[in-house]
Amino acid sequence: MKTPISWIIDDPAPVISVYYEHAKKNVTEDGRPLIPTYPNEMLFEFCDIIERHGIKGKFSVIPMPGNKGDIVNGLEGVDQSKLNEWLECVKTRVMPAFSVGPEMLTHHKAVDLATGAPLPLNERDWASTQDRTTLVPYIAKALSILKEAGIDSIGVTSPWDFGIEVEDEYEHSVSAAVEKVNQSKKAWFFLRGLRDRPNAKPWVALEEDGRTLVSIPATTRDRIWATIDTPRTDKEYICKIADMLITEDGKEGEVIRVLETGGYPILITHWQSLMSNGLGTGLKIMDEVGKRISANLSDKVQWMSFEEITDLVLSDKESYPKPVF
Ligand SMILES: [Zn+2]
Repeated sequence: MKTPISWIIDDPAPVISVYYEHAKKNVTEDGRPLIPTYPNEMLFEFCDIIERHGIKGKFSVIPMPGNKGDIVNGLEGVDQSKLNEWLECVKTRVMPAFSVGPEMLTHHKAVDLATGAPLPLNERDWASTQDRTTLVPYIAKALSILKEAGIDSIGVTSPWDFGIEVEDEYEHSVSAAVEKVNQSKKAWFFLRGLRDRPNAKPWVALEEDGRTLVSIPATTRDRIWATIDTPRTDKEYICKIADMLITEDGKEGEVIRVLETGGYPILITHWQSLMSNGLGTGLKIMDEVGKRISANLSDKVQWMSFEEITDLVLSDKESYPKPVF
């Protein structure tokens, strides 16, 4: 069997940049204003790239991005036709190569579920003191908004490290919420990274009442993030960042190191990394990395969505034990 390879895309939402909403500064490191929205053309370009190289993985859709409304009933300052066009493109071109799931409700302020109003703390800090009685309805709400938008999801992504302090309660809650909303006994989630350690693979996080949950970690770093903070878009720069993941000859880089130590390369980047504050440099790097993986590793690795990885893990649970942290 070829080794699974996958790509995590964190933080996408229609038009709105959640990074702009929650960033601590409103300028890039080199002093340019952060842009609040991304044109749909950049999603179309992303789709061209994943289709060109057969890239698969996980793609978040944030249901209430930045506390600016929701993707079903409309987003503040976003043209409804652009919102619908974005969602339609995700459904027709991103899925099913990418497993789509929420990255909780807002990736910004936590929400009072009764009123929809923002609470005075972010979702990460809110989650740190919760248990299943509040996490199940919160996660179920996120899955329900996606379902209403026509996306049935069996997995979720943690905004920041949402839930890490209460991981047992969080794991139960993801599994229970997925069953409640989408009647699936199997579920996946992304919270942790497994980097610089051998044999980095997903694991069975929970088996309970006939339900199973698979934890899928990132095994590389988001090298593309750096593109947010530089005006450089030249070929030399693009190749320099791509080299950190895989060199042109396929001999070095994080992807190769993960493979050499028996792990699964699970790459990670963010929507804002690919958008590069409007320059799209990150998309060009993703294109280059996809090309290099095809050229050097097509006999060794096979692109998989998170749902495909979940099925693989559940078909041979004993081979995917929980690592020690
Ligand atoms: Zn995120």
